[in-house]
Amino acid sequence: MHLPEFYDAGDLIAVLTTQPLGRPLDYRAPEGGCCLGAFVEVPLGPRKVLGVVWGPGQGDYDPAKIRAAYRVLDTAPMREEMRAFLTRAADYTLTPLPAMLRLATRAPGLGDPPSMRKVYRRGTREPDKLTAARKKVLAALSEYGDLSFTLKELAEMAGVGTSVVKGLVAQGAVLEEDSPRDLPFARLNPALPAKELTADQAVAAERLAAAVASEQYGTTLLRGVTGSGKTEVYLEAVAAALRQGRQALVLLPEIALTAEFLTRVEARFGARPAEWHSGATMTERRRIWRMVAQGEAQLVIGARSALFLPYRNLGLIVVDEEHDTSYKQEEGVLYNARDMAVLRASICGAQVVLASATPSLESWVNAEAGKYAKLELTARFGPAVMPQMRAIDMRSEALPANRWVSKMLQTEVEARLARSEQAMLFINRRGYAPVTLCRACGHQIGCDDCDARMVEHRFLKRLVCHQCGESKPMPTVCPACQAEDRLAPVGPGVERLAEEAAALFPQARVATLSSDMYGSARALKAEIEEIAAGAADIVIGTQLVAKGHNFPNLTLVGVIDADLGLQGSDLRAAERTFQLMRQVAGRAGRAEKPGTALLQTYQPEHPVIRAILAGDEERFWAAEAGEREAAGVPPYGRMAGIILSGTDVGMVFDAGNALARQDAPLRAIGAQVFGPAPAPIARVRGRHRVRLLVKAAKSVPLQAALSRWVGQLPLKGDLRVAVDIDPQSFY
Ligand code: ADP
Ligand code: ZN
Repeated sequence: MHLPEFYDAGDLIAVLTTQPLGRPLDYRAPEGGCCLGAFVEVPLGPRKVLGVVWGPGQGDYDPAKIRAAYRVLDTAPMREEMRAFLTRAADYTLTPLPAMLRLATRAPGLGDPPSMRKVYRRGTREPDKLTAARKKVLAALSEYGDLSFTLKELAEMAGVGTSVVKGLVAQGAVLEEDSPRDLPFARLNPALPAKELTADQAVAAERLAAAVASEQYGTTLLRGVTGSGKTEVYLEAVAAALRQGRQALVLLPEIALTAEFLTRVEARFGARPAEWHSGATMTERRRIWRMVAQGEAQLVIGARSALFLPYRNLGLIVVDEEHDTSYKQEEGVLYNARDMAVLRASICGAQVVLASATPSLESWVNAEAGKYAKLELTARFGPAVMPQMRAIDMRSEALPANRWVSKMLQTEVEARLARSEQAMLFINRRGYAPVTLCRACGHQIGCDDCDARMVEHRFLKRLVCHQCGESKPMPTVCPACQAEDRLAPVGPGVERLAEEAAALFPQARVATLSSDMYGSARALKAEIEEIAAGAADIVIGTQLVAKGHNFPNLTLVGVIDADLGLQGSDLRAAERTFQLMRQVAGRAGRAEKPGTALLQTYQPEHPVIRAILAGDEERFWAAEAGEREAAGVPPYGRMAGIILSGTDVGMVFDAGNALARQDAPLRAIGAQVFGPAPAPIARVRGRHRVRLLVKAAKSVPLQAALSRWVGQLPLKGDLRVAVDIDPQSFY
């Protein structure tokens, strides 16, 4: 069907809104008409809501009741490719389109006229009296020629109070003008000199640049050990996109979005890119959204949701640390940003670069199969070499109770302290102790609303549920038997390890890095930077230290419990442990000094631990791929998780059983259903959770079958269903 591009006033149009209504609704085009994709404001009941013109009206609604759209918003219409992307992403993830549209309109005030602010620049007149303070202001302005500044900026630059500037305005020596608040971003210059690349790097950079120049879709897996220069290489792909006048997007895990990274980008291109992340202000979000749509933001560096910005001419998407689990959104719309990046690029003819030292098995398999191109950087840049890795067999260490640092690890840390080098102790567990146990009755303190034990956070002086975030003060009597002073912490968390380190190494400066100990991501990043600059001798950290930050003086990493990730039934447990251990180990020996990584383990003969120590990645991936293929699980087969939840456990199970019985739509495609079973976390925020798992062959139309299947279930009471395609976490 051919869609008309423009609708005259009064024509029937279908408008998709962000309200949970399932499908676009019919309206009449507003006065002046509107084009396909236009952002419009429409009446919905008594409210005004935001919508996008999705096509001609369906005409299946009483024409007398159809209302007119109020107005077209002053913003670039949604492009055809964006509508296609949202539609296909919705189909893939089985998400209602309005929820997808919400992801694509996460900027406030889209309908507002561009707001103005006062700016100041040099006027033609001279002031009557030239005081020292006034001289400073005029000098600051003449330094920047014809640029204008806000009042605050100018006063700060000149080092004077704002009244001085105002005084100059009164005399006409400085001009006060209105200027739009949403300013374009400074132009980036891809012609500035890049670092001189090594032979390996140059080959990779040229291949990527050529791919970008082809203006066609393609995905490349860029693999290289930490520090091999992947960032330098993909910045050249960015340069290639900019030279063509196309936009580029670099996706990073939120925590890797550091000042250090932005400084590198600025050094390469001479100006700062747009930064899209959870800490961005509303004004900044709006500015980025608009400038991206107008093509006036050439490069966006962002967390996963930057994928849903309205690029005008996107030529390249880089997904750095592509294996990172934070790319999978686990709440609301369940999507994997890595997969959606590939989808988006394939629709708009862009290139994708997936960069990682330890790729996901999915990407590794796609590269092996020739679906993705593959580029490898084998050596670390400069003198840095991969750290030596060794296991510490904890069975022969005979540690006393409530101690976790082995004698051997202690000796190695002391050697680093003696040489004024940094050491890191890694444990992937936040808080002080994972379990609080009553020594009188054996009771373990759990969350009131979830089937999870509460984790003691001594730093916060509270017990916290890591499932729902609920917290309560640390009790002094056992909630079960009322015994006094018998509650004891069991097992280590990062805070407890810090306590042990302080006792073992009293002369050392110990810094603890755990996401919950800092008020904001910004504060945490600032702390990381100080530590990198030498503000600590021993760093105690959780998973977040594994991600993309340089600690040049760090030469030892001690992993307290290398076995931790291997427990549990997650099909990706081996892969995750392998990646995490390699990443953490990669923190050691980044500069001139060689590094060592020591893994404390009770099962040194475990195949995953052996593969990590041997550093034989190809063998690990091949073996892991073989097992998944034999089991018919991703990436060789497809899976979906269905989570049913509700406050009445009986009702939730009944619904799960009913669904499992009505499996005709699944049998039609040869898919199997497992369950219902209590979800691994069987209760969250007071809601009982039951899980069904669906396994299917790779080539079958799974989504269509799933929506027919789940669609049979009447949603009675507070029963809710969530479908998770390609589940990452199995909770
Ligand atoms: P990766 O992204 O693979 O971890 P980076 O690109 O961050 O690696 O490189 C690691 C360090 O080495 C960075 O400080 C980077 O600036 C430096 N580096 C890498 N390649 C070069 C090069 N060709 N010339 C100068 N410095 C380089
Ligand atoms: Zn809870």
